[in-house]
Amino acid sequence: MSAESYLVIGGCGFLGRHIVQQLLARGEAQVSVFDIVQRHFDSNVTFFIGDLSKPEDVQNALQKSQATVVIHTASPAHGLGRAIYEKVNVVGTRTLLEACVEPSSTVKKVVYTSSGGVVYSGKEDITNVDERVPYPEVLLDAYNETKVGAEKMVLEYNGKNDLLTCAIRPAGIFGPGDRQMISGFYEVIKNNQTKWQVGYNTNLGDFTYVGNVAHAHLLAADKLGSSYHYSELRDPIS
Ligand code: NAD
Repeated sequence: MSAESYLVIGGCGFLGRHIVQQLLARGEAQVSVFDIVQRHFDSNVTFFIGDLSKPEDVQNALQKSQATVVIHTASPAHGLGRAIYEKVNVVGTRTLLEACVEPSSTVKKVVYTSSGGVVYSGKEDITNVDERVPYPEVLLDAYNETKVGAEKMVLEYNGKNDLLTCAIRPAGIFGPGDRQMISGFYEVIKNNQTKWQVGYNTNLGDFTYVGNVAHAHLLAADKLGSSYHYSELRDPIS
């Protein structure tokens, strides 16, 4: 248990819920959720229901929770139109960051859930790269374009009014509570689309267990601010 007050944005979603559960499991006493929909009801969690793109909703949650650590997982699901991604990922993330650096804000750290898709053009395989790989000129779709916009903003706010920020880029996430992947697989089977194979069945894609992605967010929040040089990492890619 720490003295921090955690606010999980999108905390009623698949990944957000696991983050909330891990915070509670390690004994954190101050855990709040901000989400546009309430899907969970815990007596020891304060829920703020609001829209990330509305400054008054965000300011209300930050002020009432007195959050010191914000973990921002909210995003519309993949496969929708550009407008909703612009609204939540770009406008919403900017709204959150602006509120976090207000003089009255108690927030010290922001951990943002980005996506591995921010470095994927869809045209070339990416293997053995790390966070130094540049963003591609053309991204796969509006979802990934707006995830790039949000990620860049989050990183640009690092150091503003002493705020510490970082972004995590998960690939596909699987596990209990998944709201996208299994339903997608189910649709493929239902639509009898399993008899075709595109390519030679040699393509690889990364999937990560949701508990591990959630754990990475807690570690990022805990360690944000600790300084190390890249060369100190055990196995830097040259
Ligand atoms: P999810 O849809 O289950 O959770 C997202 C949550 O955000 C939902 O509870 C939703 O209600 C909330 N939300 C959406 N719009 C909002 C708004 N305007 N205001 C407040 N809350 C809002 O999605 P997930 O799978 O848990 O994904 C979490 C994060 O991880 C997202 O940022 C996503 O881009 C990223 N990500 C997911 C995957 C994956 O495979 N699921 C892979 C890479 C990255």
